[in-house]
Amino acid sequence: MSSERRRGTGPLKLLVAVSEMVPYAKTGGLGDVAGALPDALLRRGCDVRVFLPCYRIVRERTREMEAVLDKVRAPLGGVSLEASILETRTEQGVPVYVVEREDLFDRPNLYGTSAGDYYDNLERFAFFCRAALLGCAAMGFAPDVVHCHDWQTGLIPPILGDLFPEAGSVFTIHNLGYQGLFPADRLPATGLSADRFFHPEGVEYWGRISLLKAGIVYADAVTTVSPTYAEEIQTPEFGMGMEGVLRSRRDVLSGILNGADYARWDPVIDPHLPARYGPGRMAGKARCKKALIREVDLDTHLEQRPVIGVVSRLDRQKGLDLLIGILDELFSLDVGLVVLGTGDAGIEEALRAAGERFDGRMALRLGFDEPLAHRITAGSDLFLVPSRYEPCGLTQMHAMKYGTVPVVRATGGLKDTVSAYDPGSSRGTGFKFFEPRPRALLEAVRLAVSLFERRDSWERLRKAVMEADFSWDESAARYMALFEDLRTRRQPFRSGSGRPPARRSSTEP
Ligand code: ADP
Repeated sequence: MSSERRRGTGPLKLLVAVSEMVPYAKTGGLGDVAGALPDALLRRGCDVRVFLPCYRIVRERTREMEAVLDKVRAPLGGVSLEASILETRTEQGVPVYVVEREDLFDRPNLYGTSAGDYYDNLERFAFFCRAALLGCAAMGFAPDVVHCHDWQTGLIPPILGDLFPEAGSVFTIHNLGYQGLFPADRLPATGLSADRFFHPEGVEYWGRISLLKAGIVYADAVTTVSPTYAEEIQTPEFGMGMEGVLRSRRDVLSGILNGADYARWDPVIDPHLPARYGPGRMAGKARCKKALIREVDLDTHLEQRPVIGVVSRLDRQKGLDLLIGILDELFSLDVGLVVLGTGDAGIEEALRAAGERFDGRMALRLGFDEPLAHRITAGSDLFLVPSRYEPCGLTQMHAMKYGTVPVVRATGGLKDTVSAYDPGSSRGTGFKFFEPRPRALLEAVRLAVSLFERRDSWERLRKAVMEADFSWDESAARYMALFEDLRTRRQPFRSGSGRPPARRSSTEP
């Protein structure tokens, strides 16, 4: 390391390892974040490079990819396998290196099918982590900091010191519900030695391997995607069994709110909408509503009534069972409901039954449909996010930009991004409920619907909602400050032993 670099000057070299990224591959908010944050960091002068697995969809969607490394060898479970590294660039010019190995990544989906996760996800992502680091080394890019996201890249913090002893690591938790749990006897696939790593203060989690825990324990800094979620996950209610290990790292744990990607989510420029609109020229929103009602076959009288939109993974986390529990009362308010989602078979079935029962008032679209997600966000009056827990949540931020008033459960990032409407002062940017119960949700919707009926107040609220700004700049500045701090604090030696850098208390909850 040059003395200049040691003083922490010059552009910060950042390696981002991530398992999904817009526009190449996405299953949820992680993909949105990975698609927007590197560009925002580049704008702040960061020398950022991203590594991503080459899923089939990445190949299909990305015409221009150039092979930069033909044969990178990386170990997997005692054998050494080859991968190619292809390069593409984001619109802003961030290099994205795609790790290509057909037998591991050339599959219809990213993580699994409706029957369950791919049986070899441990091997797939362990290989990806090692190939990313080895690829970086082969290119001569020595990062100051490596930014890892969720369990798929949780192996990087414990192995980083072997190749890049001077690099710091940041591990970001996007959702604690996905813990990367695997049977202990598959540890050899990670290449971690059992003596050094498989213990309660390491990657062991109640007799199994947890790659999420690996990231939490061995990273130099741990972040999650909203300040409230950073607090919540240290409690038994939200910690999902990881609260003990998270509390033990609270001195390096912080919450940095996600931004919204306004290059993709802005009604002024959105190519998916039948009409564009923005603050001060809202006629387009009425046209979007009319078009949505026709597209999904709702009764046309609903043009004059509140239409509620939902775009969500169908998972217990998202609280849609709360919604299913109040449909009779909801439709007695004379509202329309449009739901787009995919996921849990039981929730899909319950929604399907409801959709048939409330034909004309409720429309259901099962599947993952990005353009429709935009049209629902624009064409609705209210946007519902009744999550049991929500690390950050992006859909409520998107909705706000589109003048669609959010109704959310006050948890995690939903709590941090929506301020409750106060009828006294007419302030606020949405409606919140606290208890994860159908009644509480219904009360919040009732309040929202009664305000919709008072045109002037509604217009004022909608204006305030559209003025809320969640652009990436501020969040990117926070990440940059964290990375810079790590670079300066980082000692020019790293033990390379794989042991955590500081004290550890018990990791068991
Ligand atoms: P999570 O990551 O937990 O799924 P977020 O709110 O952080 O939730 O991000 C979800 C992202 O995925 C948003 O951009 C949302 O619009 C999108 N999305 C979710 N479900 C669908 C779907 N069925 N079709 C299209 N986009 C979807």
